[in-house]
Amino acid sequence: MTNDNKPPSEFLAKMKRLLGAEYDNFAATFAQPSQVGLRVNTLKITPGDFNTMSPFALKPVGDYAPAGFLLDDASKPGGHPYHAAGLYYLQEPSAMAVAQLADPQPGEWVLDIAAAPGGKSTHLAALMQDTGLLVANDMDAKRASILAENMERWGTRHALITNAHPEQLAAQFGPVFDRVLVDAPCSGEGMFRRLGSAKDAKGAKVAWNQEQVVACARRQTAVLHTAATLVKPGGRLVYATCTFAPEENESSIARFLLTHPDFELIEPPRFAGFDRGRPSWADDGLPREGLEKCIRLWPHRFPGEGHFIAVMQHVDTKKPDRFAKPVRFQPPKSSELKVWREFARATLRGEWPEERMLLKNGRLYLLPPDAIETGRLKLVRYGLLLGEVRPGYFKPAHALALALKAEEVVTAVNFPADAPEIAAYLSGHPLPMSDVRSPMSDYRLLITDNWLLITVDGLPLGWAKASGGQLKNHYPRGLRIVKAEGRL
Ligand code: SAM
Repeated sequence: MTNDNKPPSEFLAKMKRLLGAEYDNFAATFAQPSQVGLRVNTLKITPGDFNTMSPFALKPVGDYAPAGFLLDDASKPGGHPYHAAGLYYLQEPSAMAVAQLADPQPGEWVLDIAAAPGGKSTHLAALMQDTGLLVANDMDAKRASILAENMERWGTRHALITNAHPEQLAAQFGPVFDRVLVDAPCSGEGMFRRLGSAKDAKGAKVAWNQEQVVACARRQTAVLHTAATLVKPGGRLVYATCTFAPEENESSIARFLLTHPDFELIEPPRFAGFDRGRPSWADDGLPREGLEKCIRLWPHRFPGEGHFIAVMQHVDTKKPDRFAKPVRFQPPKSSELKVWREFARATLRGEWPEERMLLKNGRLYLLPPDAIETGRLKLVRYGLLLGEVRPGYFKPAHALALALKAEEVVTAVNFPADAPEIAAYLSGHPLPMSDVRSPMSDYRLLITDNWLLITVDGLPLGWAKASGGQLKNHYPRGLRIVKAEGRL
């Protein structure tokens, strides 16, 4: 298979000047197809178990991302029920290196300052084993809601999703994060092969030009400066772009370090195909020392698109640890929790600590244990959205279904991925009761008005409700796959 995406000639001439003898190998990659990648959701399944049940042929991307796989072109992983169940995220293989090198640890507080649509945030949440606190932010409202949808499908419980400008985050939180990731808005040259164009700050396709590269570099300097104020003493600041431009890579880092002597570049682990930063490419007048510690991923040296990653450490560890403001949310009143309690008693197993619940605009959340005060920040999600408190009843959220394990509900109805019931369910159709062949824990549960979980090969897919002799479909309308063959 070949590739028809041709990068602009001005860009190629610039890369020829920079790469010299290496240029021909680089330029040849534009005739080759880009790699398709899939990262397994280790919050739900191990990479080994997924590989065993995978309907697609998978090849490990390499040691740098143990949950990452390459797929062959013909696979259609986006439309498979396992995708709807959040078993994987479709991610370009080079992008998988970023969260891995950020290396977040369970229990830490991590901020992903430019997180939408969620490739790195889903990966960070998995590496943190969904503990501690992950703040996933995007300043674009529409993109922040796509981020929330992807994080919900991932099944996270410990994420706070915000829609704020980096400066609003800095003003609210201060230096409290163990790790801050700046996956910077950039000129997107690394995506030329895949998308055939550059992208603007919001990810939309635009024409590439050098003025835009310079404008991106200016924006990156501002974001990095603000991000640095959110890193706790001794914490890490990780910077990534998907562009080749030295102005946005080595120069952005050099410019930052020039004005932030309290940060230094650290040497991340180097895996096969990882290249070093190129100090001599930084703009004249900027300090070049240490820039070789940055990582460059090139399509002619690595099975992925162009990426740049820098890991920096805050060197001052003397100051006190985080000064998190205590959360000021009032837990809901007992009367407000009545419908939730009835729902939980009939539907769920396990502990659901009410002292961590938050009722906001009729929506009930289970906050993470490390919830922090968010002041006037625009919240998109806080922790796990349990559902909506409605007059006389509780409507469970899709997010709750996808964060559960099948054993955490009283009744789960399971089907294999290729069953017609799964196609019908994902298309929004009710399931006739006669078609429910799965062993039920108690058949009587089906004839009462009970919520139950539809699972695919044992993994939650969404809610249904036994009512009037059928299972009423509660798969969200906006996610339904409209296909004629989905009808039962
Ligand atoms: N981290 C994301 C992922 O892995 O899916 C991709 C992030 S994308 C490269 C950059 C993001 O930066 C966009 O979602 C965009 O809305 C956001 N952005 C645009 N301008 C920004 C700015 N001035 N400060 C911070 N973020 C910005």
